[in-house]
Amino acid sequence: MDTPGRMMQQQIQQGQKMQQRQKLTILGATGSIGMSTLDVVARHPDRFEVFALSAHARVDDLARLCILHRPRYAVVANAGDSAGIARLRDLLAQAGQDTEVLAGEQALVEIASNPAVDAVMAAIVGAAGLPPTLAAVRAGKRVLLANKEALVMAGPLFMAEVEKSGAVLLPIDSEHNAIFQSLPADYDGSLTRKGVRRILLTASGGPFRQSSQEELARVTPAQACAHPNWVMGRKISVDSASMMNKGLEIIEARWLFNAPAEAIEVVVHPQSVIHSLVEYVDGSVLAQLGNPDMRTPIAHALAYPERIEAGVASLDLFRIGQLDFEPPDSQRFPCLDLAYQALRAGGSAPALLNAANEVAVAAFLDGRLTFPGIPAVIAAVLDEIPALALDDLAGILQVDAQARRLAQQRVAALAR
Ligand code: NAD
Ligand code: MG
Repeated sequence: MDTPGRMMQQQIQQGQKMQQRQKLTILGATGSIGMSTLDVVARHPDRFEVFALSAHARVDDLARLCILHRPRYAVVANAGDSAGIARLRDLLAQAGQDTEVLAGEQALVEIASNPAVDAVMAAIVGAAGLPPTLAAVRAGKRVLLANKEALVMAGPLFMAEVEKSGAVLLPIDSEHNAIFQSLPADYDGSLTRKGVRRILLTASGGPFRQSSQEELARVTPAQACAHPNWVMGRKISVDSASMMNKGLEIIEARWLFNAPAEAIEVVVHPQSVIHSLVEYVDGSVLAQLGNPDMRTPIAHALAYPERIEAGVASLDLFRIGQLDFEPPDSQRFPCLDLAYQALRAGGSAPALLNAANEVAVAAFLDGRLTFPGIPAVIAAVLDEIPALALDDLAGILQVDAQARRLAQQRVAALAR
């Protein structure tokens, strides 16, 4: 029987539970990762509350998400899109939704670092995500990192800021989330101290795993974006097809786990069931497996160290039947070696690599560059701009801009 005292206790507990709801900002809410995050969040209204959502341009999608998730703020990243901003305000007003609409890069920084926010999902694609993601880190938030480009560009600065602010950095990239889960819970940034021999980063091999050099010269953006196992944004889909995604992930692993390049190995595993592995000195190899569904790493990071339902189907090993492995082919996929080269060169080299890749991928998607043109542009930029030491955001953004200018020139030269 409920006594008044017990009911009050229940109300207090419920109140505490309500107060404990994590307030979440999602940068890049309209993207593939953003939408998967909102899918998981919607399954747990008792745990999460959406504080702010951002999008670059798709204001109709953003309006729909705001009406569904009722955030306090919605940010249109592209401040120049005044028609889009006005339309978003109209759509929200029509729906009687009192979400405040902000615009521009500074607004992204604001929703990432607002004192009311507990956790930030960094799911903007590319270099554009660096300033707000770094702002979330500096504000000591729980940062769920999907935007690998931010860490590739600014590795040392990013990790130093994590250390300084006490931010909790949790990897969303499925491989890094798998590595995180396979490392000891008290991992302290030293592979040797924890008896780890190497990290095995799995790669699906992408849609062109079995294509010849001649075939690669003719592939189209539509073919590159048709990934065999994952449904993702267009930029990362092209990166997966060129293997640059794995290159960026090697650099990402270097910084997340303080792992030297020699300790990170790439294994092509076409089924994308094993999301990565950690080998220990005693010969044990620990791995994390699951269906290729980003809601698993997202739910893991959202609730960490607890586990919550993510809407992901059970792994059906009988249906999968077989797991295959092969070494990567750096002849057909030179992006992998370019990433190792940039990682070893250090300083600004990874930022150059990333910027050149972003320009080359955009040109390929626009039909201005062939698929083999992507590594050609990146190699030219790495060769022509010397790697310098970098220690602040302004310097990194400058290098990014310089690399983009040169990459555009190389794209134009290759098109002639
Ligand atoms: P996407 O293209 O589907 O979405 C990108 C989001 O970023 C959108 O909300 C878009 O509005 C926003 N955006 C784009 N350009 C912007 C700009 N200039 N300024 C501000 N916002 C901008 O991409 P995605 O597949 O969701 O990937 C997002 C990030 O997560 C990438 O860094 C990607 O490498 C990483 N990631 C994605 C997956 C996946 O399965 N999709 C897996 C691992 C890592
Ligand atoms: Mg990945």
